[in-house]
Amino acid sequence: MFSDERHDAFCVFCGAEPNTREHVASRILLDDPLPDDVPVVFSCHACNNSFSQDEEYLACFIDCVISGTTDPAIVQRTKVRASLRHTPALATKIASARREDETGAIVWKPEDNRVRNVVVKLARGHAAHQYSEPHLQEPERVLIVPLIVMSPEQREAFEHIPESPGWPEIGTRAFLNTFVTGKKSYSAEGGWEVLQRGRYRYAVAQPGEIVVRIVLSEFLGCEVTW
Ligand SMILES: [Zn+2]
Repeated sequence: MFSDERHDAFCVFCGAEPNTREHVASRILLDDPLPDDVPVVFSCHACNNSFSQDEEYLACFIDCVISGTTDPAIVQRTKVRASLRHTPALATKIASARREDETGAIVWKPEDNRVRNVVVKLARGHAAHQYSEPHLQEPERVLIVPLIVMSPEQREAFEHIPESPGWPEIGTRAFLNTFVTGKKSYSAEGGWEVLQRGRYRYAVAQPGEIVVRIVLSEFLGCEVTW
């Protein structure tokens, strides 16, 4: 069978020599039991470690917003409950992000740089896994917006995954996905890979530029373009 070893040679996040592997999505963003075939990419230890606090922050932030509270007894996800209990400072920090806007509506204001850090990392992982090439340069565009904030037109455009114009290069994951079946246990729906239903789905397309879309907890819509 075709195998693609090209991305053995680099950490997909920084280009350094890899010495470990990283799940994409990160475990904190998925519930246990983990899906069987979470994509795995090569990484260096420094990158592997550097994202974990921001990933925990984002996972907790999303679940707190969805649950409307930072109370570990009430939030929905088991892993988030454990994180908030284990790190009260994190719960306090997230609680301080909850405020009223001018109209009296409750809004949650995340630390944008931390959210972006995680989203770009995930997108780099998916793009490298799909195309077996690093995408180390800064993305051209990063959009991060809750699905409920999108207009119906924006939502439709976001959910529609564009067709890639050509045939993928032989040996890349895109090629394998197209021509080799039966490997993945998770499902592809309308171009979306549903890694864990209700928790994590993503899509990678190359309608010219490379576009990676990710939906976290059916709440946060993300798009990263190179
Ligand atoms: Zn690295």
